[in-house]
Amino acid sequence: MARYDYDLVTIGAGSGGVRASRMSAQFGARVAICEEGRVGGTCVIRGCVPKKLLIYGAHYADDFEDAAHYGWSAITPPFDWAQLIANKNREIDRLNKVYIRILSENGVEILAARARLIDPHTIEVGKKTITAENILVATGSWPVMPDIPGIEHTITSNEALELNSLPQRMVIVGGGYIAVEFAGIFNSLGVDVVEVVRADTILRGFDEDMRVTLAEEMIKRGIDLKSRTVVEGIEKTDGGTFSLRLAEGEAIETDLVMYATGRAPNIKGLGLEEAGVRINDMGAVAVDDSSRTSVDHIFAVGDVTGRFNLTPVAIAEGAEVAQALFNNNPTVVDRSNIPTAVFSQPPLATVGLTEAEARADHANVDIYLSHFKPMKFTLSGRDESSAMKLVVDGETDRVLGCHMVGMDAPEIMQGFGVALKAGATKAQFDATIGIHPSAAEEFVTMRDKRPAPTARKAG
Ligand code: NDP
Repeated sequence: MARYDYDLVTIGAGSGGVRASRMSAQFGARVAICEEGRVGGTCVIRGCVPKKLLIYGAHYADDFEDAAHYGWSAITPPFDWAQLIANKNREIDRLNKVYIRILSENGVEILAARARLIDPHTIEVGKKTITAENILVATGSWPVMPDIPGIEHTITSNEALELNSLPQRMVIVGGGYIAVEFAGIFNSLGVDVVEVVRADTILRGFDEDMRVTLAEEMIKRGIDLKSRTVVEGIEKTDGGTFSLRLAEGEAIETDLVMYATGRAPNIKGLGLEEAGVRINDMGAVAVDDSSRTSVDHIFAVGDVTGRFNLTPVAIAEGAEVAQALFNNNPTVVDRSNIPTAVFSQPPLATVGLTEAEARADHANVDIYLSHFKPMKFTLSGRDESSAMKLVVDGETDRVLGCHMVGMDAPEIMQGFGVALKAGATKAQFDATIGIHPSAAEEFVTMRDKRPAPTARKAG
């Protein structure tokens, strides 16, 4: 008789947990997955997927405007937010069922309750107690907000995806992925958006030229970007609106306040430390390169480890755990050159090093930078430009970084992710024939190095 009830118990049915559980079961393991919310996790239920659907919805505003210049006159149909949300919810329900079916069909038992470790091999799930030879913690992350007076009046992206109606005015605090993406959605849908950023500009950590370009484009679209601005408190007015008190002395009145000031790993009440699992200084589960925690048979993947909060990374980590545990195939996820995109309007996508990172590591860095107006906007007259940038190691000719702000940037960047993974050189980019006419061809036709060694400054 088996010593434990299960070979693997996963806590959290998000992207990483589901992938690890399904693959482990396919390798023959006896697997249970515990989930107190809906199967699918942040990405499917309240993150990437619903957000992207809203972005598609919002983008029609531009499309209708542009269409008028292509001979489709007077197309301004009314917009129905409630219908978009209802349709989005229907799609999320469908995906939720798909995830449940994938787990069930592969023999993974779903335990629909909150889980807590009682000891290193025993888990309390709702009213049940089960034992596991191996445990995977994949509980994800949750929005965090600063502890300032009136913060209870604000919403996060969770609620923004479920609003009953659109406000007239909205303040979004934060300059990261989520703030920038939601500012784009609501602005396109006609909301007066103010984005409050405490830094010089949005998207710290991204390439400086891309940050500056995107900020300029957002401002052109009508987003009121307030940089170097700190909110000290929020008051609800008698009229039901909100007043944000700024450190600079000014106040902003608005109808809705959303905070997107980062996410923290979900570790509270899981019994991790009691089971001997070390939590690092960032409040995340500490893991080694193969996602193993300080307890040999307990693993952790995805946002709860605070490494790269990106769905495809969590999925790769989940697969890595399943391969190592049940397929005798230990692998390590290659975390170099992870492509990523911000689904802003226009979107930003990137792979590899920023110019600043490259200069810190390499003595001789060449920069190729191009700003241009997408062909689509020549007829429509839309005042939106794109930017592309290549960061090249001047000594080896290897392309270290590829960055873009502009229409289709995420779709374009995926392929360049492969090129960078393969170690492509600038000469190989140059030898590649472009697809004409496309925006992407610019990446293989940039010939002039930027003479000045300094990037444009943010702010
Ligand atoms: P981020 O960590 O990306 O950004 C947080 C932002 O909030 C930063 O601009 C930060 O400013 C600011 N901030 C932090 N604390 C405060 C504060 N007390 N007052 C004011 N501003 C503050 O977090 P997000 O919430 O945007 O997203 C979380 C993670 O989710 C991302 O890092 C990303 O990994 C993932 N994600 C990925 C997406 C994608 O792939 N498209 C989409 C959405 C999320 P500063 O820079 O000064 O620190």
